[in-house]
Amino acid sequence: MELRFSPAEQQLRERVEAFLAEALPPGWHGEGGEDADEEWQVGLELNRRLSDHGWMAPAWPREYGGMAAGYIEQLIFNEAFAYHRAPGGGRLFSVGLVGPTIIHYGDERQKREHLPAITRAELYWCRGFSEPGAGSDLASLQTRAVRDGDEYVINGQKIWTSQAQRADMMLLLARTDPEAPKHKGISCFLLPMRTAGVAVRPLINLAGRHSFNEIFLTDVRVPLAARLGEENRGWYIATTTLDYERSSIAGSAGGRRNVEELVEHAAECPARRRAAVRSGLAERWVETEVGRMLSYRVAGMQARGLVPNAEASAAKLYAGELTQRIARFGVSVLGLYGQLRNGGRWARLKGRFAEQLLVTVGTATIAGGTSEVQRNIIATRGLGLPRG
Ligand SMILES: Cc1cc2nc3c(=O)[nH]c(=O)nc-3n(C[C@H](O)[C@H](O)[C@H](O)COP(=O)(O)OP(=O)(O)OC[C@H]3O[C@@H](n4cnc5c(N)ncnc54)[C@H](O)[C@@H]3O)c2cc1C
Repeated sequence: MELRFSPAEQQLRERVEAFLAEALPPGWHGEGGEDADEEWQVGLELNRRLSDHGWMAPAWPREYGGMAAGYIEQLIFNEAFAYHRAPGGGRLFSVGLVGPTIIHYGDERQKREHLPAITRAELYWCRGFSEPGAGSDLASLQTRAVRDGDEYVINGQKIWTSQAQRADMMLLLARTDPEAPKHKGISCFLLPMRTAGVAVRPLINLAGRHSFNEIFLTDVRVPLAARLGEENRGWYIATTTLDYERSSIAGSAGGRRNVEELVEHAAECPARRRAAVRSGLAERWVETEVGRMLSYRVAGMQARGLVPNAEASAAKLYAGELTQRIARFGVSVLGLYGQLRNGGRWARLKGRFAEQLLVTVGTATIAGGTSEVQRNIIATRGLGLPRG
């Protein structure tokens, strides 16, 4: 077993670091997540630079504008981007989830229409899977798509749709056969957001930001050609999108950066709290290393052609809960100032930890599969325990 990056991988790490140092605004700290308009704009500019560099979609095949990068190279990109708080600017969905799904299941026309537009940083996607009654149990979704001649007519509601207010397109799941067993009657569609009958309403998150949305679909007509893959096979397509980027490296890399910032700040701590803060910092730092190793294990398995399952859930669970632990610890280290958000005069470290304490409830421990669901997977598939 080789527990080091190869010389070529090490070189790539250095190139990615150098690129980010040049491409991000001077002194960039990343503040509000990509919900904030300024951060979204920085993300779009970064995407243009990545596109010029041929780095917009490292994992994609070369014929679709990618670099055909392996799992370890992807991990290198993702780790550096998270550590430097490079804004996503919509890459997570467009490049990380939707593009690979179209590469797998799209016909030639769909590939030509959508993939180059993503790598040119011109087209942004959101994911319309969850519904008010279908989240962890996604296969219960009720949005209907009914064939009418050479079109489908779609009616229903989606919820928690991140960045839909900015997206051009949605990867949508809808039920096409209500009589079939629930996993077997779902189809997948590529829906332009500006189609008549699509209404986007903001949902404000715990931190008071407009991050996700409700989507109301009323008699939305799309041509048959907007269906991705075979009719009633959408569930299997959806599970493919959920399989991409499973290493969860962003959690531990972002966490490491946060711990380092707290270390710089620890000198301001009152003397009576120093011992507790020192030991807390040491614990959080060890935890970021554990998280990193769990993520490296997932990428290492993928690179060897194995399919991580409970291992990916363990990395996600650990990284998500660690992100929250660091945020909570950061607020306590900074004392009462730590509770102030939004970069006001008295806020410390731009209020980042108070902000993250709120935001990460959703982003780290619910989105992408809740912590309870990850524990179920670890228990049943990892430890062989019976289903509860
Ligand atoms: C920040 C954020 C962004 C999101 N972005 C998107 C997006 O862009 N597109 C999209 O389609 N969706 C998105 N989601 C939705 C997300 O996928 C769902 O919230 C998630 O799958 C949980 O579903 P739910 O909210 O319906 O909760 P439920 O599934 O109703 O769960 C409620 C509670 O019950 C627990 N629970 C459920 N089932 C089990 C079980 N079998 N065993 C033990 N406990 C269980 C859960 O852990 C949770 O605590 C986003 C969510 C968040 C928070």
